[in-house]
Amino acid sequence: MDDVLIIGGSFAGLTAAMQLGRARRQVTVLDTGLNRNRYAQSAHNIFGHDGTPPSDLLATARQQLTTYPTVKLAHGRAETVSGEPDEFTVQTAEGQSFSAKRLILAYGIVDEFPPIPGFAESWGKTVIHCPFCHGYEVAGKPWGLLYSSPMSLHGPVLYSNWTDDITLILDGHEIIEAERHKLEQRNVRILDGKLRSIEQNNGQVRGVTMEDGTQVALAALYAHPQNHPSASLHEQLGLETKSTPTGSMIVVGDMQATSKPGIFAAGDLSMPMHSVTFATNSGSLAAMGALQSMMV
Ligand SMILES: Cc1cc2nc3c(=O)[nH]c(=O)nc-3n(C[C@H](O)[C@H](O)[C@H](O)COP(=O)(O)OP(=O)(O)OC[C@H]3O[C@@H](n4cnc5c(N)ncnc54)[C@H](O)[C@@H]3O)c2cc1C
Repeated sequence: MDDVLIIGGSFAGLTAAMQLGRARRQVTVLDTGLNRNRYAQSAHNIFGHDGTPPSDLLATARQQLTTYPTVKLAHGRAETVSGEPDEFTVQTAEGQSFSAKRLILAYGIVDEFPPIPGFAESWGKTVIHCPFCHGYEVAGKPWGLLYSSPMSLHGPVLYSNWTDDITLILDGHEIIEAERHKLEQRNVRILDGKLRSIEQNNGQVRGVTMEDGTQVALAALYAHPQNHPSASLHEQLGLETKSTPTGSMIVVGDMQATSKPGIFAAGDLSMPMHSVTFATNSGSLAAMGALQSMMV
């Protein structure tokens, strides 16, 4: 039996594994290899690694973990979970079984692409969700913002750090007159109609076409699609969750402890704001939490 089974071997999960491996604990990381930012050519805003491809960051982390003989990396999709502290069991879709004293859930979230032609093709390239990650490269150019929730109305204020040419595409949603007035005072162009398609070449956005035929030239489109956790283990375990503007997250307390003993959560799954740095930080905390809980 492992001390800790980590489900999800990306930024959060591998950070937790490193910390536990260095504490000479027996750890297995179960992973399906689908890190959320795999659509982006490079990852930004990461200490010491700005501009490095995400796959390179993860490959380096996996390679560095081979130094620690108590850490095992396994490929498989965790599907069912049962048990309690000191005797959790996880079964994979491939028919493997793992048991561990503690669990760290780090299986991330999946973005649900809207069925707009050009969206999926451009996701992570010039259809982007986070200006800190990929805004610098398109600064000073015309940006679009696809409305997804009232949270979208905060976008233009933040984005004014990068560009003063912003078009808000309401895509059929209504906003109150006071909000419209505030945005117009900031020189934000507002398109009320439905978005028909995103015009792009190999993921490089050139503009959008609305249902009424209106066309606007853009260099980037900001979008915050709905998301959902990548697996349902937290539901099987009856963990407390809460809604975020775009999906849901596992509720965590000190040291990333969930609402049930012996179970910790880290990464995008456990927070409303998402970045590699937040994920690695929370992975490190979860590892410390799991370790402390075994030292009583
Ligand atoms: C397009 C895009 C670009 C981004 N660019 C940046 C950037 O430049 N800088 C930045 O800081 N952040 C960026 N982010 C955010 C960043 O990708 C996430 O915050 C980060 O990947 C979260 O790490 P994580 O370990 O929580 O989850 P993920 O990276 O999503 O990893 C989850 C892992 O769990 C595995 N998994 C899922 N289900 C199971 C299962 N049932 N069993 C086993 N394994 C499972 C997956 O295969 C995956 O490897 C970007 C996000 C997107 C969508």
